[in-house]
Amino acid sequence: MITLKLDLKSDYEKGTDVAAKLLKEGKTVAIPTETVYGLAASAFDDEAIKNVFIAKGRPQDNPLIVHICDEAMLKRIAKNIPDRALECAEKFWPGPFTMVLEKTGETAKSVSAGLNTVAVRMPSNKTALDIIRKSGLALAAPSANSSGSPSPTKPCHVEADLDGKIDAIVFGENCEVGVESTVVSFCTNPPRLLRPGAVTEKQLRELIPDLEVDKAVLASLDKDEIAHSPGMKYKHYAPKAEAYLVEGDSGEFCEFVNSKKQAVAVCFEEDKNISINKIVYGNQKDESSLAKEVFAALREVDELGVKTAYIHAPSKNGIGLAVYNRLLRATAFKVIKL
Ligand code: AMP
Ligand code: MG
Repeated sequence: MITLKLDLKSDYEKGTDVAAKLLKEGKTVAIPTETVYGLAASAFDDEAIKNVFIAKGRPQDNPLIVHICDEAMLKRIAKNIPDRALECAEKFWPGPFTMVLEKTGETAKSVSAGLNTVAVRMPSNKTALDIIRKSGLALAAPSANSSGSPSPTKPCHVEADLDGKIDAIVFGENCEVGVESTVVSFCTNPPRLLRPGAVTEKQLRELIPDLEVDKAVLASLDKDEIAHSPGMKYKHYAPKAEAYLVEGDSGEFCEFVNSKKQAVAVCFEEDKNISINKIVYGNQKDESSLAKEVFAALREVDELGVKTAYIHAPSKNGIGLAVYNRLLRATAFKVIKL
């Protein structure tokens, strides 16, 4: 398959028109969103959705998030929506926030991977919203990477993983947020945080004081435990190198990695005294800067061709919890406490 490259810089209207037309024809199109790049397909077309799973190599039992642009689309795909969910939608949409709700049955079966619920989000990225609007469709769009590899936050990441496997790539801007959306299930009482993201636990508690945090956010699940968010049970976001998450202050981290001559350190701007190869992924005190670059840094580890990576662990404050959650999976829960 030859993947069409749609460059929005030369003609935004034409690029988004073509993307929408392809989606209406049942094709797979990678699009920018504010969180990560998504591999979009019509949420109403079972065949198109199957092609998304195939292109990504995604396990069949891992459901997709459906992206919408207005309330009418929400009502078409979800029913019996609790008031608290509507309040959250009012506050956090459009934005990096996903709600798991009871489904109507309008969306293709494969979207929900056999569950009777559906995950829905209204993105804030202008390009994503324009493409949804122009297509008139709700779009299922998992991250546009090969399943298991770091999520794509720049169009070149999508190209590296999916060129030749999907119908088109929309070359938009780099993603502002850099980690996937916050996922909350409203199908349990109290509602449950399934995946942390840019909408933080603190922001959620203002509307949902009794919010439960799923065990999988900070711990690995036992083999026989049920994954409330099926995606959380898979190895994810991982570089090919053996990666470790290292907790400690800057002095401790620098001293530790300096004895590992063959490895690379993925570190903060503040970690000045590192004498081995290093990749800086942001500022320790600015967790948003870490979120924005964490996946690109994990891809860079493999570009260096090193066998081992030591990643300085972020705080769990604010969006830091989301970065920490992704790094736990990228390192298969191998945490070193200094
Ligand atoms: P991705 O599309 O790669 O951002 O992953 C979507 C995440 O949302 C995965 O962790 C899924 O398991 C989760 N998800 C999607 N739909 C549902 C659902 N109906 N119930 C629970 N989790 C879901
Ligand atoms: Mg993903």
